[in-house]
Amino acid sequence: MGLKSKRKIVMACSQCQSRNYTTVKNAVVHPVRLELKKFCPKCSGQTLHKETK
Ligand SMILES: [Zn+2]
Repeated sequence: MGLKSKRKIVMACSQCQSRNYTTVKNAVVHPVRLELKKFCPKCSGQTLHKETK
């Protein structure tokens, strides 16, 4: 059912390390770590969020 390739990941703010977002990614399609600009409530602005475990 494709469960092997899909992993739940947590996106953490690179500034304050808050874990603000969770998402699911296909590890086969996206083998590298995700880095996204997202809004962080703690930093009150857009920061770079990185994939964590
Ligand atoms: Zn932050």
